[in-house]
Amino acid sequence: MNDCIFCKIDRGEIPSQKLYEDEEIFVIKDISPKAKCHYLFIPKRHYKLLGEMTDEDQAILARTFAKIAALAPKLGLDGGYRVVINQGEDGGQTVPHLHIHVLGGEKLPI
Ligand code: AMP
Ligand code: ZN
Repeated sequence: MNDCIFCKIDRGEIPSQKLYEDEEIFVIKDISPKAKCHYLFIPKRHYKLLGEMTDEDQAILARTFAKIAALAPKLGLDGGYRVVINQGEDGGQTVPHLHIHVLGGEKLPI
């Protein structure tokens, strides 16, 4: 998608430090952190909603959760973390490219 912020970051058209990248996903710090540590795990393929996933997207998402767990110690999330996926307008989704918020580094409010 030409206008999508996360596609632009992936293509290097918006500067951002990728903390991790492979052929399927990349990881950046959220520009407006809601916790001491706030990361975005972003599948590279552009789609907005969980309901739009192909079989391959489902497999990538499953692998992404495993990558979150594997990278957590390196990201300062040893004490635990929260995983959030906002969906659509009511869910508070502002960027229409599926992404996983990973928050932690401190005790989060319930
Ligand atoms: P959501 O509201 O769930 O769609 O989350 C979008 C997130 O992207 C928000 O938490 C924003 O702070 C974050 N965000 C927007 N632009 C950037 C950017 N250029 N770099 C890093 N994070 C961003
Ligand atoms: Zn996109």
